Amino acid sequence: MTTPVLQAVDLHKSYGRGATRFDALKGVSFEVRAGESLAIVGKSGSGKSTLMHLLALLDQPSAGEIRLNGEPAERLRGRELNRTRNATFGFVFQQFFLTSSATVLENVVLPLKIAGVGRAERKRRGMAALEQLDLDDKARNKASDLSGGQKQRVVIARALVNSPQVIFADEPTGNLDSATGALVEDILFRLNREQGITLIVVTHDEELAARCDRRIFVRDGLLFEPERPEPGASARLGASADVEDTTDGNDTADRNDPAAEEVAA
Ligand code: ADP
Ligand code: MG
Repeated sequence: MTTPVLQAVDLHKSYGRGATRFDALKGVSFEVRAGESLAIVGKSGSGKSTLMHLLALLDQPSAGEIRLNGEPAERLRGRELNRTRNATFGFVFQQFFLTSSATVLENVVLPLKIAGVGRAERKRRGMAALEQLDLDDKARNKASDLSGGQKQRVVIARALVNSPQVIFADEPTGNLDSATGALVEDILFRLNREQGITLIVVTHDEELAARCDRRIFVRDGLLFEPERPEPGASARLGASADVEDTTDGNDTADRNDPAAEEVAA
């Protein structure tokens, strides 16, 4: 079996200390396989963004570990950490985080600048990324001149420009109307399918989650993956079905499926 791109091993994350301590993640373990699209689903405040920040090496766990391509990420420090994150990940957030006074091209090539790529090469790769998003004609516009959908396409071009292994998208369509959001989703899934970029989508949007290969659910800092129950889970499910009236087997399954609740919320 190939090494997972990312592994979360018994992750804990607490904010604050003493009486104000809040345990946002309480022991979360799972693997992300290369090339898959994975939705991290849960209600607001459940710990989705906290989990994504840990996976993306933007923050450190209070306990547990992240492995990136099989290597414990805690070994990465300082500049090496920044370089690895910049070379391996692309980010698409609900808030676009574009520099409005800079041009579209300047925004897109920022990861290349951080990586120390020279000016001519930056321009070449930046324009290629913009072409993929059908925005090459906007390269010289100020980012502030663009519509929301165009801005999110610029963000995707920026996420792509370093040929990342993984794109993290945190509520990528949260600030867009549904038609524009659907276009942005199509682009993300196309990149996943055609370029094999692993896609990790954080969302509370049921339809977006349903488009992913796999869904994991976060609730109160714990993780559930109903489609891949832990060993023993199906036995427990079967046992409870046995003692209950089984005229409607689905009913039992639904009540044991945190997905049903989360998605309905
Ligand atoms: P989600 O993305 O699912 O809405 P978050 O991961 O952002 O949830 O937050 C999970 C919980 O942790 C929330 O209760 C939130 O208030 C808390 N939290 C997140 N970041 C911080 C922080 N920097 N300091 C204190 N509490 C935080
Ligand atoms: Mg969030």
